[in-house]
Amino acid sequence: MSQNIMTNNPIIIANWKMKLSLAETLALAKTLKMKADKKAEVVVCPTFPALAETAKVLKGGRIKLGAQDCFWENSGSYTGEVSAPQLKEIGCQFVIIGHSERRKYLNETDEMIHAKTKAALEAGLTPIICVGETFEQRQEGAKDYVIIHQTTKALEGIEIKSHQQVIVAYEPVWVIGSGQAVSPNAAQEVHDVIRQVLLDLFNLEVVSNNFRIVYGGSVDQTNVKDFLSLENTSGVLVGMASLRPSDFLPLIKNA
Ligand code: PEP
Repeated sequence: MSQNIMTNNPIIIANWKMKLSLAETLALAKTLKMKADKKAEVVVCPTFPALAETAKVLKGGRIKLGAQDCFWENSGSYTGEVSAPQLKEIGCQFVIIGHSERRKYLNETDEMIHAKTKAALEAGLTPIICVGETFEQRQEGAKDYVIIHQTTKALEGIEIKSHQQVIVAYEPVWVIGSGQAVSPNAAQEVHDVIRQVLLDLFNLEVVSNNFRIVYGGSVDQTNVKDFLSLENTSGVLVGMASLRPSDFLPLIKNA
């Protein structure tokens, strides 16, 4: 099985959630721009109000910018929403879609996630589609069903053009923020399932060239290498351990 052929360097995506003030976001972005190891591809995803200023800080450096969500329409009367073209305009290249916290607290459905994925691609953003089972679903033996269902619903019927990139992030919901990641073997099993779903939806060339699968859920500087050495794994999505330079810089180095 092959990894994405566009780059052999891992991608490290930082999800800063709603955890940092504007000042803290800019300070962290500045430090990363100066000090982050140059080999890894690093993407930071601050909150909406911090995106424009963070884009200015990151300008001229290697660290890329992503958002934590987008709306599925490009413009119109949708109070409180932010569109994919608006994100692109201020310098985003990536957008997280369907994070489990949004599925849970905002009742995001598979249909919404599909529409957002489409909008992101059309705007020239790389969607980072999050899929993952809850603890209850795992206990019920429904893990693979959930992964297959969420991945299929997000992507079926979407045509991926040669210049477009998609990232599918496996994030077991029950380990997010817990400090206890799943074992690399357990992640590997799910990544193989995701790859099989992708092969059912797209041809081998598209899966190999345009898709990356990453793991997220309590990744830290100690375990990052274990996940990156897996097959069918091109990177990691990091929450908690991306919020402080003292955690995130060694994580990037170890990757
Ligand atoms: C996340 O919420 O996307 C995440 C991976 O969080 P953490 O690394 O804190 O588990």
